[in-house]
Amino acid sequence: MQALASPSRVRLLACLSASPCSVGDLVTAVELEQSAVSHHLRTLRELGVVVGRRRGRRVIYALHDNHIRTLLDEAVGHVQPDAAQDAERRPAVAESDTDTGRYLTVTYIIAEPCIDVKDKSCIDVCPVDCIHEVNRMLVIDPEECIDCGACEPECPVEAIFPEDALPDKWEPFVNINYAYPDGDAINGLVDSYATEHDVQNTPPAA
Ligand code: SF4
Ligand code: SF4
Repeated sequence: MQALASPSRVRLLACLSASPCSVGDLVTAVELEQSAVSHHLRTLRELGVVVGRRRGRRVIYALHDNHIRTLLDEAVGHVQPDAAQDAERRPAVAESDTDTGRYLTVTYIIAEPCIDVKDKSCIDVCPVDCIHEVNRMLVIDPEECIDCGACEPECPVEAIFPEDALPDKWEPFVNINYAYPDGDAINGLVDSYATEHDVQNTPPAA
């Protein structure tokens, strides 16, 4: 019920009920910013409503099971027809995208200690090159991260955490990492955070 309390999430779920989708497909279908779609998908994953399966370089999302579909059908029957229209706009997804893949349970997040430090030790160990530099820090692309954990011990300032172990005080960095690949959005979020929290990190001595 918490998942269905958001009209945007209902629209996303209606699309996923029709067929599995990538984030890009959902952005096209529901006409929301990618960062917003990623945020809602994270919430839906945490609530056990959707699952993501890696398929090559893409992650394909789907409803967790048919029980969810039944609940959704009941709920959508009582809301506006936007959801049905969204499903019609959604690009077709190849049948092969529903093949067995690896379920996603968590991704990694880079947090405040990386701001203005950026020594990049983490980049070299990432097997899928999913760590990216923006103006004042590095972020992890949540769609590409394979949750291997190789980067976490490499960080000299302990900035990298599994998403489900991120300290509460650094929750804003979930949105910051999930905003990838929108560099301008990330830079704006980081600047706002650093100003608000008076971040004054200094790089470790060489
Ligand atoms: S190792 Fe840590 S501080 Fe260095 S770039 Fe990566 S996350 Fe940032
Ligand atoms: S957990 Fe693995 S895949 Fe994800 S960012 Fe770190 S090194 Fe890369």
